[in-house]
Amino acid sequence: MAKLLILGGGTAGTMAANLMRAKLDSSWEITVVDADNAHHYQPGYLFVPFWMKPSRVVRKRTKFFNDGVTFVEDAVTRVEPEANTVHLASGRTLTYDYLIVASGTRPVPSMVEGMAEELERGEKVFQFYTLDGAAELHDALEKFEGGKLLVHISEMPIKCPVAPLEFTFLAEDYYRKRGIRHKVDITFVTPLDGAFTKPVATRELGNMLEDRSIRLTTDFQVESVGDGVLASYDGRELDFDLLVTIPPNMGQQFIIDSRMGDASGFVETDKHTLRSVRWENVFVLGDAGNLPTSKAGAVAHFSAEILVENLCAAINGKEPEASFDGHANCFVESGRGQAMLLDFNYETQPLTGTFPLPFVGPMRLLKPSRINHMGKLAFEQIYWNMLLPGRPIPLPSAMMTAGKKFPKED
Ligand SMILES: Cc1cc2nc3c(=O)[nH]c(=O)nc-3n(C[C@H](O)[C@H](O)[C@H](O)COP(=O)(O)OP(=O)(O)OC[C@H]3O[C@@H](n4cnc5c(N)ncnc54)[C@H](O)[C@@H]3O)c2cc1C
Repeated sequence: MAKLLILGGGTAGTMAANLMRAKLDSSWEITVVDADNAHHYQPGYLFVPFWMKPSRVVRKRTKFFNDGVTFVEDAVTRVEPEANTVHLASGRTLTYDYLIVASGTRPVPSMVEGMAEELERGEKVFQFYTLDGAAELHDALEKFEGGKLLVHISEMPIKCPVAPLEFTFLAEDYYRKRGIRHKVDITFVTPLDGAFTKPVATRELGNMLEDRSIRLTTDFQVESVGDGVLASYDGRELDFDLLVTIPPNMGQQFIIDSRMGDASGFVETDKHTLRSVRWENVFVLGDAGNLPTSKAGAVAHFSAEILVENLCAAINGKEPEASFDGHANCFVESGRGQAMLLDFNYETQPLTGTFPLPFVGPMRLLKPSRINHMGKLAFEQIYWNMLLPGRPIPLPSAMMTAGKKFPKED
């Protein structure tokens, strides 16, 4: 029997397994390996510090695999790509004809001096990129009666690069509703040179921070955390009473141990075909790769159909010809019951305009609106019921430029 092996049963691995099952006949065995049987809806981590119950974001992984997909609950410890073999923590080995790496990314606080210890202490430093962290932060936000709140990104890339900004806007709104906003001094601290990465989005998001009297500290390359002080390599020190940090994000340890990735553990991937640049029978989906676009579930979704087409071509002895354009689509919660929407790809930066229909919308790009917020909340049900099972969602995987406003050339 021919074997397709998928490492990771999160957003990307689950979608890939179900979509490939629909394509391959019964001479193919499809196996997904994951370290546990708990699928987390990670976009929910953003809301857990404010109002969402932690239990709402977790469901059994096995509920989401279609018939004909085998699930192995075990941790991958090493891959030997030259031998088409994967080693598991239990001592078991699995072989494959084709491999999809879908093992995502993880926060690694130990990369910053003092950060892991401060998070462990759980007094002034918190994160929401893990479910436990988000639940602890809920209590910390509730207890906080005023002082300096820093929301901080350690380095790029991180998954969902807009989530720290969303958290900042939601925290501002939260303290406003509690009537103590005037006592909470909020600063958004980023290693980037502005609120976001591309000029139009940076301007719009920067204006929103300013409108809400949120300070912005840019080009901050963090060196250490400790004693209520966040320090940068260029000698700046920021005092805080509460720090919400996004630790550095890295690929999984087994990618590093197997020498399959770059220095941060991300697998080098052809940005158009989604095939590994080093092994012809290895494809990569989701955050595990080094594509120059956002690490986001939406990207995994838009790229999944390209991967499926190219993997099927490779299996049939053809060259992979489908090309992913880097399409990313992110809702940005902006507080006050509204959200913005960002839509971009490798070539085109996030612009203002309408989505998905040109000039009609109903969603507005890069402007806060109620309907965008409703779209963000609706995504949870779409995720569980349509995206993971691989049901068609009526959105084109490639980005459309009609209806978008391009900045005038100087
Ligand atoms: C706070 C937050 C908010 C977000 N909001 C959004 C949003 O609004 N929209 C959006 O599109 N995206 C959002 N994301 C990002 C989105 O969740 C991820 O981009 C998406 O889950 C990536 O899918 P993936 O399959 O690549 O990785 P994951 O879903 O993380 O799956 C990776 C899987 O690999 C498994 N794994 C790892 N190591 C091993 C090992 N050694 N052995 C076996 N299994 C292993 C893990 O257990 C996991 O199940 C958000 C993320 C966070 C943290």
